[in-house]
Amino acid sequence: MNSELASDLHNLVVIGNGMVGHHCVEQLVQGGALSRYRIHVFSEEPLRAYDRVHLSEYFGGRDAESLALGDAAFYQQAGVILHLGVPVLEIDRARQKVITAQIQIRLTYIMALPPPSLVKKCVPR
Ligand SMILES: Cc1cc2nc3c(=O)[nH]c(=O)nc-3n(C[C@H](O)[C@H](O)[C@H](O)COP(=O)(O)OP(=O)(O)OC[C@H]3O[C@@H](n4cnc5c(N)ncnc54)[C@H](O)[C@@H]3O)c2cc1C
Repeated sequence: MNSELASDLHNLVVIGNGMVGHHCVEQLVQGGALSRYRIHVFSEEPLRAYDRVHLSEYFGGRDAESLALGDAAFYQQAGVILHLGVPVLEIDRARQKVITAQIQIRLTYIMALPPPSLVKKCVPR
């Protein structure tokens, strides 16, 4: 069954598509998470995950695609939805929603590789 069409899939949201976020999604997929979850990955950057350690080589002329982590097809498979250029503005724990300027997603699980400002917003005072 096409996992995107399955109605009983839960939303698993990963915030950040850096080196850690990318590895995290790879591990989830390898572990069979797509049978239970639709994985939404949010990145405020316009390009998919790249090798930040070698970022300085980009300024020496290395092309962006060669720095990218994994294959582009990885983020095109059913069940993995990569939202590029979409910063998460807030995690509304009470309503169980991840909020961006464009969409709100009802979530089941969240893996935030969190910027401190986002954590402050979602942790009750
Ligand atoms: C030039 C350079 C050289 C380095 N060299 C080394 C090295 O030699 N050895 C080493 O161990 N480390 C090195 N580092 C550090 C290493 O790159 C970082 O430790 C690593 O990238 C951290 O990965 P991360 O996925 O946790 O965070 P990041 O790579 O920072 O990724 C986090 C991602 O989340 C996104 N994000 C943040 N907030 C939001 C939001 N609200 N909504 C959506 N997206 C969001 C960010 O835009 C970013 O894309 C280097 C870093 C740089 C810049």
